[in-house]
Amino acid sequence: MFVGENWRSERAAVWSATPPTPVPPPDLWAPGVTQRQRPASDVDERVPELTFHQVRPARTTEDAVVGLAAWRYLINHATPGATLARWLQHRPARPADELAVPDPEQGWANALLDSIQARDRLIAHLHARQVADLAELSRNYTGLREFLPTEVALALGVSEGTASARLCEAEDLTGRLPATFAALDSGRISAAKAGAIRLTTQDTTPDVARRVERDVLPEAPVCTMPQLRDLVATAVIRHDPTGADERHENARGRRRITRRTEPDGTGTLNVFSTMQDIATIHTCLTAIGSAAKTTDDERTPDNRRVDALVDLCAEVLDNGTWRDQPLPSTQRRRPHVQVTVPLTALLDGRPSGQAALLAGYGPITPTQARQIAADATLRRLVCDPQSGTLLDYGRTTYEPPAPLADHVMSRDQTCVLPGCRQPAHRSELDHIDPFRPGQPTGGHTSDTNLGIECKHHHRGKDGGGFTLTRTDDGYRWTTPLGRTYNRPNTRLWQPPLETRSPAADPTDPDPPPY
Ligand SMILES: [Zn+2]
Repeated sequence: MFVGENWRSERAAVWSATPPTPVPPPDLWAPGVTQRQRPASDVDERVPELTFHQVRPARTTEDAVVGLAAWRYLINHATPGATLARWLQHRPARPADELAVPDPEQGWANALLDSIQARDRLIAHLHARQVADLAELSRNYTGLREFLPTEVALALGVSEGTASARLCEAEDLTGRLPATFAALDSGRISAAKAGAIRLTTQDTTPDVARRVERDVLPEAPVCTMPQLRDLVATAVIRHDPTGADERHENARGRRRITRRTEPDGTGTLNVFSTMQDIATIHTCLTAIGSAAKTTDDERTPDNRRVDALVDLCAEVLDNGTWRDQPLPSTQRRRPHVQVTVPLTALLDGRPSGQAALLAGYGPITPTQARQIAADATLRRLVCDPQSGTLLDYGRTTYEPPAPLADHVMSRDQTCVLPGCRQPAHRSELDHIDPFRPGQPTGGHTSDTNLGIECKHHHRGKDGGGFTLTRTDDGYRWTTPLGRTYNRPNTRLWQPPLETRSPAADPTDPDPPPY
């Protein structure tokens, strides 16, 4: 049987026949090793012996038992870092069946679980080191501070919202929450738990935040996430009973609606506001949904609430007014939804595997696109099924805009900074090479010199240290740090897979070390 599971009490795990005999870990080490009585976190030189166990499969029962037990001891005691990463790479092989190892399945399963726990600690440590790097970058960025999230987002391939959140996290953890950072760095808590402590204390004073840390960190490693959130909230109230109203007011100032793309052509809209606002919205949607219910209605109450919200918004868009005021038009258009559909998908009702594109959101199925295209308030784009280029940008369904602006907006679809999904109708048309009226130099007002940029990235180009050039197949941005990123032209439609070159071999020849 497998005994001695309590690593925290410094006992070693060992396969042993009943009755179990706990043995001090150094005695479990491979024959010939003389480094006795040293803490495992301080024994980098033991790694060659550990490698020895892995390279040469255990030939005796004792070797198998001792090797695996020693490895478990080491990974459970190592400080997260390079040494732990190397040990994790050198896990001993599963003991061979012919060896008379007692309870081999249980022993091996325990070794795997130890490995999973150790990797969790290592991931937390690496996250903390990355947080420290971000905080240092934040102090050393040479461009305009406003565009640091853009620089980080381009480098990491994440949205600017995510980049901003990670920069905030870095500044918080290395600034006002030093004990939480230390717990993350040592692998005692995960990044998610550090995040829960950070978010719940974000409106408290530094002094309250540190007292909350002191209260919750001892229990945090063994708490579940909901338990930890409750613990932190309770500690915040205990240490700052009078700040509740102020914090509520601050939180109210952050009320917002965010949206997220989900699988299967769906999405999520999140509303963050006060509980009374949320109750108003929910009550109203429930009432409209109930009023719309018919006797043979198969929709769930949740379905009806969503439909009620969509109906409310669609009605306002259809009318083009709100409380007798016309809706503001941007780029000479009312707010609208743009969908790009392969021509064949509109002609043929059968599923073809071709994806349509909802501008600013992502790919959808042609069936869903047909449903959208049937709506008179929406604008339909039709593409050549061979080349994917625009054939007809549907001016018949909309008020006639300036043809050139219309063409550029239809071509680019969104802001042309890589990763930015701000739709063209909420962005700005920019002369890439600036237009200089009355002068012989300067850019033309032509489709090759016009691009779509959201307000934020337009500012980045005009004074924020970013440069934008047109290339043969799209756009090239250079950031304030001198890094370049290409944004290919928007492909309005992907040709069927069989006409494209085969994908690269997905096998990674150089997998990460851990
Ligand atoms: Zn943008």
